Amino acid sequence: MKLFNTLSRKKEEFQPLEGNKVRMYVCGPTVYNLIHIGNARPMICFDTVRRYLEYKGYDVTYVSNFTDVDDKIINKAIEEGTSADVISKRYIEECKKDMEGMNIEPASYNPLATEEIGGMIDMIKTLIEKGYAYEVNGTVYYRTRKFEGYGKLSKKNIDDLEAGHRDEGHAIKVSGQDEKEDPLDFVLWKPKKEGEPSWESPWSDGRPGWHIECSVMAKRYLADEIDIHAGGEDLIFPHHENEIAQSEAANGVPFAKYWMHNAFLNIDNKKMSKSAGNFFTVRDISENYDLQVLRFFMLSAHYRNPINFSRELMESAKNGLERIVTAADNLKSCAQAASLEKMTDEEARLVDEARKFQENFDAAMDDDFNTADAIAAVFDLVRFANSNCSKDSSKEFIDAIYTEFRTLTDVLGLVVDRKEEILDEDIENLIAARQQARKDKDFKRADEIRDQLLAQGIVLEDTREGVRWKRA
Ligand code: AMP
Ligand code: ZN
Repeated sequence: MKLFNTLSRKKEEFQPLEGNKVRMYVCGPTVYNLIHIGNARPMICFDTVRRYLEYKGYDVTYVSNFTDVDDKIINKAIEEGTSADVISKRYIEECKKDMEGMNIEPASYNPLATEEIGGMIDMIKTLIEKGYAYEVNGTVYYRTRKFEGYGKLSKKNIDDLEAGHRDEGHAIKVSGQDEKEDPLDFVLWKPKKEGEPSWESPWSDGRPGWHIECSVMAKRYLADEIDIHAGGEDLIFPHHENEIAQSEAANGVPFAKYWMHNAFLNIDNKKMSKSAGNFFTVRDISENYDLQVLRFFMLSAHYRNPINFSRELMESAKNGLERIVTAADNLKSCAQAASLEKMTDEEARLVDEARKFQENFDAAMDDDFNTADAIAAVFDLVRFANSNCSKDSSKEFIDAIYTEFRTLTDVLGLVVDRKEEILDEDIENLIAARQQARKDKDFKRADEIRDQLLAQGIVLEDTREGVRWKRA
């Protein structure tokens, strides 16, 4: 099995550090809003990497954090007149709902930055002791030039970076710029500003910088040296470069053996941005599509290629997924109708023939997780099933084909069981129960009902005239 390592810019044979154990860390979202469909890409792609590794027999420990202390969260809290904690908790819950909809396997650990402050203070202390960090007026900086390998992931040369800083006219002094020994030094710990969440530390009451969070959480939940570290390609520099500098200086061993990065998702060939008005949250998408369609759409491209999101492409993903779900329906009804138990010789030959689809699937995934080609192998199997499986087939034969089919769709994390249609009458009854719960001020129950309906593809809209609903 080969995977593309950003560190070497080459496809390398995958060999875990220890036996069949895989320690994998994926940088998670900053929780200040509902996640957008760009954030969904690393979630879906690396969840699929994990599923494939598990299918291959590896024992994967998968860690993905939530960054729950950050300027954006604090600003949102000020905007709403509440605390950062309320904001981050709310959006972690919402994010988990979206992840469930996209069938992301729950991580082995989902650490929160705010619960790991002690570990961060320890690592910063170590860095200071080893001469890799220094404190000025309550702020601790990383002494970038001191770390010899700086730039090895992003392939940036430290002198070019320094020159870049000069060219950008850092005469316009960013606050704190004066006190740094070198413009390239980055923050490990910063003192609080009025009203911000803060923790005590030997340097000031304050909070950690973003990069130190991941170094510490990877160390605590995995090891000093891990197998795979992943995230979106925008994180290569400076986030991952700085994580390497911190972890390797503090721990004295290489940080991650393989670095994987997904390319970006664009919308109608443009960068997604709120100000340009082409911005979708996963929740927006769930109003029109089952989130399985979003998952299928993401996997239809290789994770290292940019992917373009458009209504047409989503419609074609919806049709593609429908063919797969229909094939599952057909196989299930063939199995029910089968009167013959044992497979015939001809069917045994067909089962042998069908193995090539799984081989092609594996070959595609072994080649740096080429999910686009893996999906092509699933479609080949669907066509094969459609032409060879019928109500006259034996049960054993249908079971064999269905098992292969389910194995492949499970690796891709696609849910192929058709959701049961909910009747209009049941929807109306649930809406009435929700109204009653609200009247009784049982908002938890009211939210549960809304979520239950959403999971069945029913979107509620509270209007002045009452509650309206539609099928997504
Ligand atoms: P953030 O919350 O901005 O730290 O992002 C969380 C994850 O989503 C990171 O791995 C980012 O690289 C990734 N990400 C953000 N925007 C996009 C995008 N448009 N396409 C693909 N990945 C993205
Ligand atoms: Zn990170």
